[in-house]
Amino acid sequence: MLHQIDALHLSTPNVICVAVLQAEDGTLIMIDCGPETVFENVVRQLDQRGLGAKNVRHLLATHIHLDHNGGAWRWQREFGTTVHVHPIGAPHMVDPGKLVSSATRIYGDRMGYLWGEIQPLPRDSVVVTADHAKIQVSGLTLEVIETPGHAQHHNAFWWEPNRILFSGDVAGVAIGKGPIFPPCPPPDVNLELWRASLERIRALNPRQLFLTHFGLRQQPELHLRELEARLTDWAAWMKDRMSEGKSEEEILPEFRRFTENQLVAAGATPVDLVAYEQADPAAMSVTGLCRYWRKHHPDLVFS
Ligand SMILES: [Zn+2]
Repeated sequence: MLHQIDALHLSTPNVICVAVLQAEDGTLIMIDCGPETVFENVVRQLDQRGLGAKNVRHLLATHIHLDHNGGAWRWQREFGTTVHVHPIGAPHMVDPGKLVSSATRIYGDRMGYLWGEIQPLPRDSVVVTADHAKIQVSGLTLEVIETPGHAQHHNAFWWEPNRILFSGDVAGVAIGKGPIFPPCPPPDVNLELWRASLERIRALNPRQLFLTHFGLRQQPELHLRELEARLTDWAAWMKDRMSEGKSEEEILPEFRRFTENQLVAAGATPVDLVAYEQADPAAMSVTGLCRYWRKHHPDLVFS
C-alpha cells in the first residue's frame, strides 16, 4: 500500500523520496511530489509499477519548500490533483511570486536547473489544512500534525493504522548509513518550535518515520534523540562562531569541515556525502541558523 519512489533529483539517487499510498479502489495519495524537475521521473515510475500517475488525486504537502512541492502545480495541471497545504503556505502556492523571488535570491541562475518551472495553483485546487484534521480518501485516513520548526508552515501526516509518520523535514535527513542531520534553511528555522514538534511526534509513538530525505526509517525514539542532540549542537556551534564576530562567509568552510567529519564518523560513503549536500546544503544551514540567532536571541550573539 505504501510505495517509496526515488525521484532521482538531478539523476542523483537517495535525495528526494516521494511517498505514495494506494487505496483499495486504486486512488493514490502522494506526500510531497518534489520539484518540477522530477515530475517526469515520478510519473514514469508510478506507471511502470502499474499504479498509474493519473490516479494521484491528492497531494499532501508537508511544506512549500521547492525541493518538496515545487512541482505541485504540474500534478494539478496534468492530473487535476488536489493539494493539501498549511494555511501559511497555501497563499504562496496560489501566488508563488514571493516564493520564487526569495528562492531566486538564494539559488540565482541555478533555479531552473534545480527546480524547473514554478507556476500558480488554481485557488480551488488547494485545500487548507487544520491541525488534527483528518484527510479521508477512499478508505485511507491521514491526520494533519502541525510541526513547525524547520519551517513555520510545516505539517507532518500521521497514518495511524500503520503508525507511520510522514515527516517531511521536521524529523531531519538521514541517507544511507549516514547520521541524522537537521536541515536548517532560512527563513524560519526556530529551535524552540522544532523541539516542541519533536515532542509531539514522540507522543504519537510512531513505529516508523518517512523522511523526504530519505525514505522509511526505523527506531523513531533513537532517531529523534540523535536529531535533537545534533540540532542543539549545531546551533551552539554556530552561536560560538557568531560571538567571535565571524561572518557567514568565514563560517561556511569551517561548518563544512565540521559536518563532513560527522558524516564520515557515522559511516557515510563518498556517494552519501554528495546526496547529503544536495538534500541539505551546508550553506543553507549556516544562513538559517545565523538568522535564527540574530532574529530570536540577538542578545546571545552580539556582546
Ligand atoms: Zn527538504
